[in-house]
Amino acid sequence: MSGLPWSSHSVILREAVFEGYLVADSPLRIGVGNEAPLGSAAHLAVLRIKLNGKLVPYIPGSSLKGVFRSTAILLANQKGLTVCSGLSEQTCMDREYQNLNDRGTERKTLLKKIQMEMDEGNVINAIRLFHERACLLCKVFGAPSFRGHAEFCDSYPVNEDGDVQDVPVGVRAGIAINRRTGAVRQYYRVEYVEPGARFKFSIRTTNLPNYALGLLAKIMRMLSDGWVRIGGFKTRGFGEVRVEGLHFTASGPTVQGTKMLALDEEDVELDLAGHVSSTSRGLEASGDEAWAVLAKLEEVWDRVKFKPK
Ligand SMILES: [Zn+2]
Repeated sequence: MSGLPWSSHSVILREAVFEGYLVADSPLRIGVGNEAPLGSAAHLAVLRIKLNGKLVPYIPGSSLKGVFRSTAILLANQKGLTVCSGLSEQTCMDREYQNLNDRGTERKTLLKKIQMEMDEGNVINAIRLFHERACLLCKVFGAPSFRGHAEFCDSYPVNEDGDVQDVPVGVRAGIAINRRTGAVRQYYRVEYVEPGARFKFSIRTTNLPNYALGLLAKIMRMLSDGWVRIGGFKTRGFGEVRVEGLHFTASGPTVQGTKMLALDEEDVELDLAGHVSSTSRGLEASGDEAWAVLAKLEEVWDRVKFKPK
């Protein structure tokens, strides 16, 4: 192995993919803006995309990623792991970097420091610096100037063969109330995707240690069990989805036999024997076996003890 930490994109240690269908169990609202609009003639349409000539609702990868990251913050905090909010200007990259060897009082962020190392050709230093100073979630989900190690693809309403499926949509009337006066401000219409709609999702990861895959697995289970919802109007019961047709694939130099090796000193090796089959794509598991793989990964997350930094 090259000795580069797993957060480096210059080394391929493994790829792991979670895919399947997100099936709406309640109305689903993925649109632009979740609040009652202030303008007139309000109609809140769901987000649509043109697929094979059909304009259909979809779930952008950024929506799913946002839900995963915000849930991951809660789970990390439960473990006492310090992570950033991931919000603009509040990531680990925006945090002040202090170096005792630096002269003067000039303030610089971690991002600035990393860019300086890159400019000077010290790529390895830059990689190490990021690995040491950025939180787990910046490594998994990304940070300014850094592509994360989990890619959330857009989820489209397609079947196994890739054919575009019709998505039933409905419209509900709502009222916006002036919070101060209590007077009805205006009526508006909210468009939503009807329960039963199916969206094919795919989360593709590179180099994630077993505990980080376990974190994603845990969130996927929470999503499927209704603890985590997606989209808008969650307080009105919108946004429940379940995961169907789950499929897990893992491949790469740190996947050996049925084992997924540990990728850092906090990680734990995992043997998936009995739940996976070896195919040309690597280790694969579908349906109940895929959920069993997720359970094993979740166990790694539950047990991992992070060293205080
Ligand atoms: Zn961070």
